[in-house]
Amino acid sequence: MNARIAQLLSLQAGTKVVAEGWVRTKRESKTVCFLELNDGSSLKGLQIVVDLALFNNPELLGKINTGAAIACSGVLVESIGTNQAVELHAETIELFGEAPVDTYPLQKKRHTLEFLREIAHLRVRTNTIGAVARVRNTLSFAVHEFFQEHGFVYVHTPIISASDAEGAGEQFLVTTLDLKDVPKLPDGSVDYSKDFFGKQAKLTVSGQLEGETYALALKNIYTFGPTFRAENSNTKRHLAEFWMIEPEMAFCTLEGNMAVAEQFLKFLFKRVLSRNTEDMEFFSQFVEKGLRNVLEQVIETPFSHMTYTDAVKELEKANGQFDYPVHWGSDLQTEHERYLSETVCKGPVIVTDYPKEIKAFYMKLNDDGKTVRAMDVLVPRLGEIIGGSERESRLEVLQDRMNLLNLNPADYWWYLDLRRFGSVPHAGFGLGFERAVQYVTGMQNIRDVIPFPRAVKQADF
Ligand code: ATP
Ligand code: MN
Repeated sequence: MNARIAQLLSLQAGTKVVAEGWVRTKRESKTVCFLELNDGSSLKGLQIVVDLALFNNPELLGKINTGAAIACSGVLVESIGTNQAVELHAETIELFGEAPVDTYPLQKKRHTLEFLREIAHLRVRTNTIGAVARVRNTLSFAVHEFFQEHGFVYVHTPIISASDAEGAGEQFLVTTLDLKDVPKLPDGSVDYSKDFFGKQAKLTVSGQLEGETYALALKNIYTFGPTFRAENSNTKRHLAEFWMIEPEMAFCTLEGNMAVAEQFLKFLFKRVLSRNTEDMEFFSQFVEKGLRNVLEQVIETPFSHMTYTDAVKELEKANGQFDYPVHWGSDLQTEHERYLSETVCKGPVIVTDYPKEIKAFYMKLNDDGKTVRAMDVLVPRLGEIIGGSERESRLEVLQDRMNLLNLNPADYWWYLDLRRFGSVPHAGFGLGFERAVQYVTGMQNIRDVIPFPRAVKQADF
């Protein structure tokens, strides 16, 4: 393995090296040719200087254009330019793959993110998407670092779910039935007993319920995996396929849950700021002005806390400026979530104790009988980044809630068993991984922080 360009850039002048990568730009004069070589290891590329008096191969150089893959050997020389400490004075150049000027779509100019989405197989060769990929990598690793350091066990919950016990969103059906000849029951409905699993199966919208079973044996667990929601809306923060991190903790109430969520987010932000210095500088300058300072401040400031009831009081004062005016009982829309974090709290805020009607059946009922121990972490620019709760650990209360919602207890027999055997207060939350990437990079559209986005009418590549 030859050294990556990020490493070469930190070497002393005088070192003989081989650099491999893709040409970003080419500038030529009569006597010299400059190539900027990038291999994705850093934002910055290595400047290759080709002395045309020594390197007399116009035919080869003519084939080397933006996008071409080359390897170049030579000596690192202190650079006179201010952009880099060293540059490579080429002795040999090997051309692997050309990228013809008239057909390669990523010529040196600004491309819109919309255009880049149409060439998602090439867009990672740009500064922005390359930086997103590196930050995403840091964040994934940091997720595991955080939980492993705190003794959480990583659990793989199923992707195909036939339990019908989820309700977080519209689900995708998984079937091998012949759509041209669907078996039917006498009443005209689909006979799923003939399907692959012998019953209806769907892609998971959350690993939480299964995660709870492991938490009630291993104390602290987390999942980190793909999640699917047939979100039939075109927003900048929803995907049909996204990655979710779901910790679940036994012997833990809402207070502990909120503390972990805050610590966890701050840990992720710190890791990115320390490991992706150059990329974060880039985002801070070109994507979201001042982003780095904002993140640094967020790390140092305790998150705000507010009950849903107090949040609604604040929102009602501003009802005139919302598309959807709010009253007690309304589900909060993005505009409200953003207002609370951007205008009221000026930073991340954890809103708790939502009306039970707008939250899931498994959330712990408060003594007021009206609200549940839910918590959403809301951040500027995005709104909700985390949703979580203390779970209802009392069997009777949980059964009452399910009855009220017309949920069939038979479908949840194993979930209810957790309340029959060794039940204990427990809590957890879900962090949408792409929302976290959006938040730390400042990228506005969630489709630009996942390699190949899946959304309504979009599943290319
Ligand atoms: P929202 O109100 O933003 O649609 P939600 O309340 O439906 O989210 P939860 O069920 O609480 O979402 O899921 C936990 C987390 O997963 C959310 O806080 C969010 O970060 C993320 N998330 C939810 N839906 C999506 C989606 N379609 N695309 C990307 N991330 C999502
Ligand atoms: Mn939520």
